[in-house]
Amino acid sequence: MAKLARSEELVRARLEGLQDLHGEGSEEAEVIGAHLLLLDDPEFSDEIRMLVESESLCSEAAIHQVTEESAAILESLDDEYLAARAADVRDVGNQLLRSVLGLPLDTWDDLAAPSILVASDFFPSETATLPPGMALGLCTMEGSPTSHIAVFARGMGLPAVVGTDLPELQPGTLMAMDGDTGEVYVDPTQEMLDVLRERQERQNRAEEKAAERTHEPAVTLDGIHIEVAANIGSDEDARRAVERGAEGVGLFRTEFLFLDRTRPISEDEQYEAYRSVLSAFGDHLVVVRTLDVGGDKQVPGIEIGEELNPFLGLRGIRLTLARPELMRTQLRALLRAGTAGQLAIMAPMVAGLADLMDFRTALEEAERSLAGDGLEYATGYQVGIMIEVPSAALVAARLARHVDFFSIGTNDLTQYTLAVDRTNREVAGRADAFDPAVLRLIAETASAAGSSGCWVGVCGAMAGDPLAVPVLIGLGVTELSVAIPSVPTIKERVRELDREACRTLANRCLGAADSSEVRMLLNTV
Ligand code: PEP
Ligand code: MG
Repeated sequence: MAKLARSEELVRARLEGLQDLHGEGSEEAEVIGAHLLLLDDPEFSDEIRMLVESESLCSEAAIHQVTEESAAILESLDDEYLAARAADVRDVGNQLLRSVLGLPLDTWDDLAAPSILVASDFFPSETATLPPGMALGLCTMEGSPTSHIAVFARGMGLPAVVGTDLPELQPGTLMAMDGDTGEVYVDPTQEMLDVLRERQERQNRAEEKAAERTHEPAVTLDGIHIEVAANIGSDEDARRAVERGAEGVGLFRTEFLFLDRTRPISEDEQYEAYRSVLSAFGDHLVVVRTLDVGGDKQVPGIEIGEELNPFLGLRGIRLTLARPELMRTQLRALLRAGTAGQLAIMAPMVAGLADLMDFRTALEEAERSLAGDGLEYATGYQVGIMIEVPSAALVAARLARHVDFFSIGTNDLTQYTLAVDRTNREVAGRADAFDPAVLRLIAETASAAGSSGCWVGVCGAMAGDPLAVPVLIGLGVTELSVAIPSVPTIKERVRELDREACRTLANRCLGAADSSEVRMLLNTV
């Protein structure tokens, strides 16, 4: 048992050292902090000790068993985010095991030259300890876009291809990769290398140019200001988004605050998080979406129960209307925090007028309860809804009278319009937001909004695709909310366009037969 305690101490000291190295607030430091919490979690360490004492297992076997059992529980939760956290548990277990076995904790001693690093998967502590400048890219056979490897790669500005099939490779094999397209080349020809180098140089030049002007507004050639905002999930994201030149937040996915915990986050904790994001953006608008769980997003402590079609079930606003306590707590926290900046509150998955009116009633009730408690709260905030269910787009003219804005969620709007489950790999190729049917719903929404004076943004992934920007602007969208790293390039894309020309183009896209024709038209811009 003394050996186990010593090993824990060694791992703890190493993690603390790494945390200091990366500096407070960095993504690396946050992941390492989560590992420290796990290492000290009594459920984890006591369980190992219990197996050693009462089942007479050696420390190594006990660590392995507890690690695998804990990881398996997370993986069985039918939630991509939590399943990805199983990697953290295995990472901590692996470090502890290496320490008990007297093996070195550092993996990178043999790395002699900057290289593309290939593995079935990387532990977060491995990516966090990469010697600076030694990784040219990361390639894994396991992993998903929400796994830590993807988060780290993005944070370090490294190209990464995750979850790809690769043959067995010897160290020193010549390789090339394109993180944008997900292509990996083993032993590429000189010709291929020349093509890729040229592509890389062109991209570097474009990114440098975009970064230089990212703190300037995005104005079209004919003088129309398009607001380029960021999609965020935490207050740490807010800081990075400001640095990257985001002109506000177009989508704060608050469900991220509810993850990594066993019970829903309290009103005061939510208040602190919202306040910090609103303060970071000062006079810029921060659109906070109320809790959007259900479907493929499950949150510990919020039981939804078995559903045959979860995407058509208790999801988004349907869930928070069915659990008024959740809605009330969140709205109270938001309204209290709203005094710190420019707040907009947005409801997800609104299907029609009844959902919207119930949402407005919940807002009035939250205001009344705060007034009753004598607490200060915001009054001049904006109210909006996501347009992500086709029925809402079709009655947008009725909805527009009761909101300040619409934000189009093209991820779900595409899924529901084309009847394509966004999580099903078998039909992933059919989920194309460029389908004219989806474009017509966006057009319907924008024209309904225009007649009522409310603004329209897009916060689905389509907003961050440079190919989509002209058609969205042409259809009447004036705000694009995109992933943080895309802010500079989307701003630059806006600056190349003329809104009148975009309108003509958008009309042609609406008349196209299918998404291939739309893409062909857009590729001419
Ligand atoms: C969308 O559906 O487009 C959207 C932005 O919401 P989410 O991806 O969080 O469902
Ligand atoms: Mg959605």
